[in-house]
Amino acid sequence: MADPQKRLEQIIKVLKDKGCRLTPQRLAMLRILSKSAGHPSAEQIYEQIRADYPTTSLATIYKTLSLLKNMGEVFEVTFASMGSHYDGNKPYPHPHLICTKCGQILDLEFGPVAGISQEIARQTGYKITHQQLNFYGLCPQCQQGGQAPE
Ligand SMILES: [Zn+2]
Ligand SMILES: [Zn+2]
Repeated sequence: MADPQKRLEQIIKVLKDKGCRLTPQRLAMLRILSKSAGHPSAEQIYEQIRADYPTTSLATIYKTLSLLKNMGEVFEVTFASMGSHYDGNKPYPHPHLICTKCGQILDLEFGPVAGISQEIARQTGYKITHQQLNFYGLCPQCQQGGQAPE
């Protein structure tokens, strides 16, 4: 995972260079996205922003997300069961590990699949814009919590 502080400065610079307005709400949103601990959904970002900026609307969140997506500064991961989640820390296609019980989403940063998009790009000359390489299972906490779902 990239240093969240550096990643934040990077996104801010891109937005400034493109002449985008940096409202306090937007900055708060960038802060959440550059960490991307947990890969929040738009609703989860909204809940966090609204605590500090009650006038923010979900539409604003979606608008900023699509702006960032179009600029290649955030990567959208879509799950059939959980909808769209966003990663601003690693804004390029990468594999994820998902707990089917608590919904935790982790970046897969080790093993043979960690850099698979970059490797495919290197070997084929493709610019990989999307991939859906996701591994599902139960996280250690959920395994301890007892009954795994059938
Ligand atoms: Zn879990
Ligand atoms: Zn990720």
